[in-house]
Amino acid sequence: PQETCTEPSGRFVKGSGEIGVELLCVVKAVLKKIKRRVLVGDKVLVGSIDWVDRRGAIENVFQRKTEILDPPVANVDHLLVLFSLDQPKVESFSLTRFLVEAESTGIPLTLALNKSELVSQEEIKAWKSRLRSWGYEPIFCSIESKRGLDTLQFIMREQTSVIVGPSGVGKSSLINALRGNKHILGAVEEGNWFDPLLGSKWYEEQRVGEVSVRSGRGKHTTRHVSLLPLSDGGYLADTPGFNQPSLIKVTKNSLAHHFPEIRKMLKDGEPAKCAFSNCLHLGEPGCLVKGDWERYPYYLQLLDEIKIREEFQ
Ligand code: GDP
Ligand code: ZN
Repeated sequence: PQETCTEPSGRFVKGSGEIGVELLCVVKAVLKKIKRRVLVGDKVLVGSIDWVDRRGAIENVFQRKTEILDPPVANVDHLLVLFSLDQPKVESFSLTRFLVEAESTGIPLTLALNKSELVSQEEIKAWKSRLRSWGYEPIFCSIESKRGLDTLQFIMREQTSVIVGPSGVGKSSLINALRGNKHILGAVEEGNWFDPLLGSKWYEEQRVGEVSVRSGRGKHTTRHVSLLPLSDGGYLADTPGFNQPSLIKVTKNSLAHHFPEIRKMLKDGEPAKCAFSNCLHLGEPGCLVKGDWERYPYYLQLLDEIKIREEFQ
């Protein structure tokens, strides 16, 4: 019954005590009718609960705090931007693109640099002070030598995280390292169910898969995403996000907000403001943003790119 849901959450339906119970749910037809898509990570109201068979029906979806599209996950509250110090070497403009894209979601981020066992302490120190000057406090880790994994796990506790970064930096390796022995997807693939923990995405794509089997194409051709429960109460999307930052949500006026250096110079807008409210910080009269910082050329380059895109929109 509905009233036993102490928390209206599709991730956990709590009974008495703190023991989480997983329910396999269908989405009520009325939600489909009004095209309310249920995303992985959504908080949902579950009714018609059968505690014996652990089944229920999703009756409503609560307002999302955040929503990202790549991968499609609701209520993500932490982005882990992962690069590697070597193989491939972190490249500062590419890193800036990822950071700007991550900042543009409004979701708090952590920056981590992997494969630290491949480089010298001096190189690590140099990156540390450089990234600090950008406004970030990086974490150095190595999945290979297990360095820094505790710190990452600590940061991701009680949060829903998505790992983003270019290919080859170790995103899949990190997901696997944190996965432990929880293979929740395998358990669900036995039945043809909607699982609130895994979300409708899997369900929909499973159905797409069935159709494509009939039409002679392979099953599981589309991407699915699920949330892996972490040991300290957090969740991690098992699919890395945006490995090609499109900056599609960034406008020429919002770009500056995604650079901590500029935010600092403007004291986050309070009370420091440039003379013009739509200042693009290109040397306009009364502009408070100087050009004497490392990533200013990157800011200019991205601004040009966005201006061109906006002109053609
Ligand atoms: P992804 O493309 O970001 O998902 O990267 P992968 O997880 O597939 O890793 C790419 C390669 O880097 C694989 O060969 C991994 O074994 C390797 N790798 C991952 N972490 C480390 C690390 O800490 N040190 C080293 N030397 N190699 C690593
Ligand atoms: Zn300005």
